[in-house]
Amino acid sequence: MTTRVWDYLPEYEKERADLLAAVEKVFESGRLILGESVRGFEEEFAAYHGAAHCVGVDNGTNAIKLALQALGVGPGDEVITVSNTAAPTVVAIDAVGAVPVFADVDPDHYLMDVAQVKDLITERTRCLLPVHLYGQCVDMAPLRALAAQHDLVILEDCAQAHAARHHGEPAGTMGHAAAYSFYPTKVLGAYGDGGAVVTSDDEVARNLRRLRYYGMEERYYVVATPGHNSRLDEVQAEILRRKLTRLDAYVEGRRAVARRYEEGLGDTELTLPATAPGNEHVYYVYVVRHPRRDDIIEALKAYDIFLNISYPWPVHTMTGFAHLGYEKGSLPTTERLAEEIFSLPMYPALPLDTQEKVILAVREVLAAL
Ligand SMILES: *Cc1c(COP(=O)(O)O)cnc(C)c1O
Repeated sequence: MTTRVWDYLPEYEKERADLLAAVEKVFESGRLILGESVRGFEEEFAAYHGAAHCVGVDNGTNAIKLALQALGVGPGDEVITVSNTAAPTVVAIDAVGAVPVFADVDPDHYLMDVAQVKDLITERTRCLLPVHLYGQCVDMAPLRALAAQHDLVILEDCAQAHAARHHGEPAGTMGHAAAYSFYPTKVLGAYGDGGAVVTSDDEVARNLRRLRYYGMEERYYVVATPGHNSRLDEVQAEILRRKLTRLDAYVEGRRAVARRYEEGLGDTELTLPATAPGNEHVYYVYVVRHPRRDDIIEALKAYDIFLNISYPWPVHTMTGFAHLGYEKGSLPTTERLAEEIFSLPMYPALPLDTQEKVILAVREVLAAL
């Protein structure tokens, strides 16, 4: 059987009755948009973080976009983030008219090199946007100090870090707001698109509720622009409520997979993921590194194993972002990583025998290089 980095069908098989009951509950409720399920999920996801508010939106990209707008970030403002991220992080910054400014990443954890951020701050900087990439958090203390000193807002991109913790604090509670995606592959994934913003700032939450609802507070009456239609869908919210009760178990499942990879591949030349100090990793993706990455991926196809690269192109080198004016070579660690990293299959319901197959195949391929 073909092995891929991610597959939802093993989970669906296990949870089918509950998931279909979620759909039925919404269909029978008599309310399909912004009903009980969205409200319930928002309360429960906020409570999961110990935060005051969660506002459900239609996807993670719009979570970032609306959060930036709700935080007052707009045209011409500079937002410091990384190029080693899912492109949507940067697409969202660009979409509000703000200017993404990139720090390089550190070579051990592939996360924002916070030591570089200070020198990137200008009088136009408004926001720091750390991406808690692959399932672990950026070193937040230095960023919070800089934000306080320069009067900047912090938006955490938590799309890959549901349930991650940093020095005991939950991801999503360490800035002014946090954007989540519930894209199906994510640690907490819907069965379709979904997203949310978590914040403890009442005003930011109020802005977000307007922004996602045409700029309205009450039906038919716009109180502010810009407005969007960016609501979390009621069916997805009900599915997410049920999956939220299993989130900690999903994370335990991911950690068990990571432990098996460590046991099975720890003595090879692959560089396995390292957890940064103070982090509790949730392994959204299991990113490994090898200088002959392309040969390894190619050779694994003979074993019917098809791997993925998160991500093959640094955002600053994409033609769509040429207007930002970054030269090749300007973010050396990010660029080098893009040539050497790849991801092994990772999801909580990954069958044991599939994982064993992957370990054996990778060992054989490495031995034959
Ligand atoms: C998935 C992801 C997003 C975008 O989320 P969508 O729901 O796909 O729009 C943004 N940032 C990061 C880091 C992501 O992994």
